[in-house]
Amino acid sequence: MTVRTRVAPSPTGDPHVGTAYIALFNLAFARQHGGQFLLRIEDTDQQRSTADSEQAILDSLRWLGLEWDEGPDVGGPHGPYRQSERKDIYLEHVQMLLDSGHAFKCYRTTEELDELRKQKEAAEVRTAIKASDLELDADEYARREAAGAPYVVRMKVPEEGVCVVQDMLRGDIELDWAQVDAQILLKSDGMPTYHLANVVDDHLMEITHVLRGEEWISSAPKHKLLYQYFGWEMPKLCHMPLLRNPDKTKLSKRKNPTSIMFYERMGFMPEALLNYLGRMGWSMPDEREKFAREEMFANFDVQRVSLGGPVFDMEKLRWLNSMWLRELTPEQFATRFAQWGLKPENMLPLIPHVQPRVEVFSDVVPLAGHFLAGIPELKAEQFEHKAYDAESVVKTLQFGLWQLEAIRHWDKAEIEARLFALAGQLELKVRDFLYPFFIAIAGTSSTISVLDSMALLGPDMSRSRVRSAIELLGGVGKKKLKKMEKDYEVVAAAIQQAISES
Ligand code: GLU
Repeated sequence: MTVRTRVAPSPTGDPHVGTAYIALFNLAFARQHGGQFLLRIEDTDQQRSTADSEQAILDSLRWLGLEWDEGPDVGGPHGPYRQSERKDIYLEHVQMLLDSGHAFKCYRTTEELDELRKQKEAAEVRTAIKASDLELDADEYARREAAGAPYVVRMKVPEEGVCVVQDMLRGDIELDWAQVDAQILLKSDGMPTYHLANVVDDHLMEITHVLRGEEWISSAPKHKLLYQYFGWEMPKLCHMPLLRNPDKTKLSKRKNPTSIMFYERMGFMPEALLNYLGRMGWSMPDEREKFAREEMFANFDVQRVSLGGPVFDMEKLRWLNSMWLRELTPEQFATRFAQWGLKPENMLPLIPHVQPRVEVFSDVVPLAGHFLAGIPELKAEQFEHKAYDAESVVKTLQFGLWQLEAIRHWDKAEIEARLFALAGQLELKVRDFLYPFFIAIAGTSSTISVLDSMALLGPDMSRSRVRSAIELLGGVGKKKLKKMEKDYEVVAAAIQQAISES
């Protein structure tokens, strides 16, 4: 048997360090066994998936030095590798389950489902929604079917009993069938859900081992059942521990930058970031901290992954990166630095903002040095401004940060719409409103438009700088935060309305 593993990201945002972590371990496992590793794009959520996000994921994983034997960009014998291009395959498989009686069409409306959930809650029944709950009497079913009412296809799931899932790291995991819904397999728009597409594809792509984040454990019973229904062998499952913030909560962009692009922009070396990800729950037999990818692969043993949540700590990563930097020759350092900061592709988006404002090249760094910086070292006095007292400046930055966190597609128009609407809500002139953002982002207001700066710096870098400014100004204590959140709710609702009307 040839070992085949995969990483299956959904292209719904910036490329996440968690995706790189899972990709690295799948690749290490495949290479260790002389197997293959493939990349599949799980873009069945048509509303949230974007081509830009897919491209950024591919670029970021390549930047890190990861490669795949099959994938949407390199092809392969099991393609297409993008789920949106495999619709017919899923329809065929749904039909097989309908024919064998393991799945059923469900004509229930959203209102009826809400009502059902309410009834269960009121009766304190803690079971999931099952086929028996959804049944319509035969006449009503026929009426809806004849009227061409929208429907979904759901799988049948046992009402009770225990499902045992085998995990390579955790042994047997017991899950209660009573808690598992009659999962939707095919949505009313004809697209499959993650569960169906993932199982069908893993089988057709001949995946033998699935290493994925532990958040998918609760999906495993449904997957196991689907493999049974189809009469297929299930790949071996291995649920990896989730990456955590230093406070042990799940790594999230609200607390820490999670985008690989942020780490690139910060000037981390890809070798060092990959090395650090290899240290997440795993260590070399001799516990050495600095190792290259090939050394990891040569020594890899998935059984040595430890389940205690690995902490992704930027300070530790900086230290490890410094080890890698020290080993460069001066020539290599010079080349790598220029490649990082000064290569034309990176500079080009900046030039239209810089060129009209400078007289000589030496004006560029004072004007736009913040594009080559990480988190600027600032002083509280820099935020002093006639429109603000100490409290209102923190509030403005915090409200602004929350608005920036709400942005799905990061571009200047969206940043502008949200921040200008916020200025209106706070009854501040746009110029005054933007002042603390200029300082947080660029350290000065004599620079290019702060909206352009944010658009170009990207979401994680922009938000990190605003977050760091808030901390510099004393932060927001727990009590203050509660009150602020309450005030913000009203403001946010008004902004949302203004945006959806425009
Ligand atoms: N598309 C899923 C994700 O975004 C894949 C989960 C899996 O590996 O099964 O993580």
